Amino acid sequence: MKDKIKEAEVFDNKSTVYGPVKSWRYGMSLGIDPIFNTSTCSFNCIYCQLGNIQQIVRELKVYVPTQKVIEDFQEHIDKHSLPDVVTFSGSGEPTLALNLGEMVTAIKQISPTLPQFVLTNSTELGRPEVQANLLNVDKVIVKIDASDEETFQKINRPASGISLKATIDSILRFKQSFKGSLEVQSMFMPLNLKHLEDFAAILNQVKPEVVQLNTPKRPYPMEWHRENRGNHKLIFDYQIKELKRVTEEDAQKIETLLREKTGLEIHSVYQK
Ligand code: SF4
Repeated sequence: MKDKIKEAEVFDNKSTVYGPVKSWRYGMSLGIDPIFNTSTCSFNCIYCQLGNIQQIVRELKVYVPTQKVIEDFQEHIDKHSLPDVVTFSGSGEPTLALNLGEMVTAIKQISPTLPQFVLTNSTELGRPEVQANLLNVDKVIVKIDASDEETFQKINRPASGISLKATIDSILRFKQSFKGSLEVQSMFMPLNLKHLEDFAAILNQVKPEVVQLNTPKRPYPMEWHRENRGNHKLIFDYQIKELKRVTEEDAQKIETLLREKTGLEIHSVYQK
């Protein structure tokens, strides 16, 4: 217990910048949290590393001042070497932050060559303000976990009124104007192993550069702790629930089928 607390103290809980964490695809990724104060998202995914989302909303607003994020970023890079990439994610859905574009611009001014990525659940990508905020981002990684409405509602548990169809339409609208790279990230569990052909059909519509197949390797925390941001290895003293994963064999089958049906570049968390 003492060791757990000691390790936990290493994590800077007061900063909007966390990590860097080793990403299985992008190297050392420094997390930026534009939400920060409570877990806030338009989804409440059953596997979310933040636990049960506290505010399930679609409201675009300033959740944390740009100045705080920039000060935290500057403080981090003054003390540490530059990461390979910064990734906007953190305590919820980053595109809900109305000042996301300001943060991207400010970080570009400080570190012009540092790639900036955004992980999004895609629900708000059709909105003009969100599209403008993402204009100068290098890569947007969109989440698609289901190919039918029922599974979508079960896994992603979205805010009222959000459907799978509307979310895919948002991605397609966003893609028309976005000049950066677009990838798809999917979380596979036994629950969404069905309808893989329909999933391939969605990928053929979206045509991402890369598809990343994931499975919940981390347990589900029963309550929110800011420390849950990122892929850290710390163990905290709170209740967790282990989640069902797909086996390595199933992941291989999904990968092969999707590659055959789409011709896309597919990566799996099991390939490392
Ligand atoms: S979209 Fe991301 S932050 Fe939102 S509930 Fe799902 S996993 Fe959590």
